[in-house]
Amino acid sequence: MALEKISEQQAAEEAANLRAKLNKWSDEYYTYDSPSVEDSVYDQTYERLVELETQFPNIVTPDSPTQKVGDHTLPGFTKVPHEIPMLSLGDVFSKEELGDFVDRLTDSDAVPFNYNCELKIDGLAISLRYENGILVQGSTRGNGQIGEDITRNLKTIKSIPRKLTRPINIEVRGECYMPKSSFASLNEERQNNGLEPFANPRNAAAGSLRQLDPRVTARRKLSTFMYNVADYDDLETDTQSGLLEELKALGFTINPTYRVAHSMNAIDAYVDQYQQLRDGLPYGIDGIVIKVNSLPLQRSLGATVKVPRWAIAFKFPPEEVQTVVREIVWTV
Ligand code: NAD
Repeated sequence: MALEKISEQQAAEEAANLRAKLNKWSDEYYTYDSPSVEDSVYDQTYERLVELETQFPNIVTPDSPTQKVGDHTLPGFTKVPHEIPMLSLGDVFSKEELGDFVDRLTDSDAVPFNYNCELKIDGLAISLRYENGILVQGSTRGNGQIGEDITRNLKTIKSIPRKLTRPINIEVRGECYMPKSSFASLNEERQNNGLEPFANPRNAAAGSLRQLDPRVTARRKLSTFMYNVADYDDLETDTQSGLLEELKALGFTINPTYRVAHSMNAIDAYVDQYQQLRDGLPYGIDGIVIKVNSLPLQRSLGATVKVPRWAIAFKFPPEEVQTVVREIVWTV
């Protein structure tokens, strides 16, 4: 129903329905790595909820998917509190919306035109904590405040250094993903064994990482790109692009395609370039992330309860029709 024709009561009822659907889909997706609908269906439903809640702010409820980071934690894993929350990202689906986001930021907060463009890796967020340069704990994002301890599983991944090049205390965040080649051979093997294939590399990565037996994770050939730190006070750089280079120097794998953009044209060109190159990349991406490059400005812009105000994801249209899979992780 068009928003201008709807009463607050009708909006509240529709919003309650949408929330129930979204919460069910989130549970399938995050808790069981087994979605029953396409991401685009989830995204459209979410957008409608945002529209209703924006028009009628009184109908917003604290448990709305718009107010919380989506993941849940699985029983069987020790819970890890995130002192600095792990957030989601706001998203846009068109160049116009992307331009509006950048314009608003650049105008209202005197943010100079200096953005870091990165690929949005289609995996799941992880956090790695090092003490004196030694990996002591690895966890999932969970609900942003509390994640799952998956240290033993993460230690099986070759791109994650057990020891850094410097003996520092640092908590590094990034994406764990399954390369397309590993995904193809895993699904072939599953089909040969009469198991349902994974819906997509993201769900395969999530299901592989949240295993009680690290030997299963080890066989799944996962990889990582790290792109953030919980707190950057100990870093020498004050830019996002510099942060990536510092992470690389510490021994992490970063995605090398990032680019600093000083104009909207440069951002658009990056988006176009990787939308075209997407299919040929050895890993899945579902969009581009644009980040304010200055770290002090990131800090002063802050975040909502769910997303940072200094970054936005430009989401690509869905790549292909996905199959639905079910894997009960703790029994595999
Ligand atoms: P998101 O995946 O849209 O974006 C946030 C995440 O992007 C971050 O947490 C991080 O893990 C990741 N990311 C990848 N590359 C990054 C980079 N370079 N810099 C920063 N972050 C990067 O948000 P979300 O909250 O994780 O998930 C919401 C999305 O999940 C929805 O838009 C929908 O597409 C999908 N979803 C689908 C279903 C379903 O049933 N199909 C259900 C729930 C959610």
